[in-house]
Parts: sequence; structure tokens; C-alpha cells
Amino acid sequence: MTFTTDNEILAEIEPAVALKFATNLERVELTRGQVLQETGDAVDWVWFPENALICIASESVEGESVSGGMIGRNGTFGAFEACGSRLSYARALVQIDGNAWRIRDHHYRDLFVQSSNLRVAIHKHIEALLVEARQLVACTAIHRVEHRMCRFLLDASARSHQGSHLTLTQEELANALGVQRSTIAVASSALQRSGLIRSRRGSIDILDFSRLEAAACSCRRTIAFAQQEILMTSERVCEA
Ligand SMILES: [Zn+2]
Repeated sequence: MTFTTDNEILAEIEPAVALKFATNLERVELTRGQVLQETGDAVDWVWFPENALICIASESVEGESVSGGMIGRNGTFGAFEACGSRLSYARALVQIDGNAWRIRDHHYRDLFVQSSNLRVAIHKHIEALLVEARQLVACTAIHRVEHRMCRFLLDASARSHQGSHLTLTQEELANALGVQRSTIAVASSALQRSGLIRSRRGSIDILDFSRLEAAACSCRRTIAFAQQEILMTSERVCEA
């Protein structure tokens, strides 16, 4: 018997350790709009998406909310908090339907202790997220919405592994990019006229991946290159 998963972090766990925790790992179907974690609540579960996409929303005290990142098959939600403050400082909600694995926080802490591969994978994931967060600050300040939207759509497709059909509304895109919905409507129309996407009510189809890639802002390549370097690092720097 083996444990198999499409989540790239879970897949790193040593087979013997994964089998030991197999009864603690639960495969679940996530539904668009489902809230996995509210801001300020205790983190009870650690999530590992396979083809679902989780949006991390940061909220202001005035009640406004903006996407602070998206987590797909290459990531996890709750893992850092479960081994830290055990509180969430952001809201996690499902952006795109799909499957995920989840594990109770206390079982996750045991798993973390017993799997050195998991500790290395998490360390690399933290570094990759930091690279992305820093680059996206620059992206927001420098690059045009149309080009940022291309980057976001390609990332959403890659991280959810859902191909060319993305269940995203213009409002969700506006949230993700931190702009007005009317700005997204203008950018979306331009990309449609160019034949790169087809926007329908509640969904977007990517019609031409290579041209969308060419139209995406350079941050996509900058982040991808850095993250590839991080993932390829063979030195187990976080191990004693
Ligand atoms: Zn950019």
C-alpha cells in the first residue's frame, strides 16, 4: 500500500512516514466560496490542495478584503501557523473547486517532527512564498493591470492544474489584483479582442497559452525562475 497525492509538498514525505499518518490524512472535495479559515480563528486543520485553488484574503479593520496570494498543488495553508502561533491572520477561501488533503493541526505537528523531507519542503515553500510576495509588491507598483491579469490567469491555471477553464468572476479577479472591477472589465475586453481569453459570466477560458505567456508581465518569469532554483536546491539547509 502506498500513499499518493498530487500535492507537491505532501508528495515529498517519506513513504513509510506517509503510510503511518494515512489514517490522519483526509481527502476532501472543496467547493468554490467555501471558507476554510476565518481571520483570527485558531488553526485546527492544515490543508494541502491538489487541483483546488485556495485564496488567502487579507482584511483591513474597515472590513475591506484583498487577495494576499493563492495556494494550489504546490502549497499548503495552515502549516506555518500550526507550528507557530496556531492563529490565522488571514481568511482562506476556496477560489476554484477541487480536491485537497487535510490533517488536524496536532497530527500535523507530529508529522512535521517525524518527516525530515516535509521540513525541507516547508522551508523551501516559505522561501518561495517570500520571493513571490516581494516580487508582487513591485509588480503592483510597476506593471499594468492587463499584463498582471495575464500573469494571474496563468498562475491560477498552473496551480490548480485545471487547464484552460477557470471559474473566476471579474469581482474575484479585481480582488486578486487589488483594483476596481471596472478596471478588470476594461483589461478583460482588451484580452478578449486579442483572442487570448474568452470571458463569460463567472468563468474565463484561456484560448492561447503561449500568447498569454508572452503578454504576461515579467514577474511571472522572475518568480518562476527563482522558485525553480529554490526547489532544485539539494542542500538540506534547515536540518541539523
Ligand atoms: Zn509584474
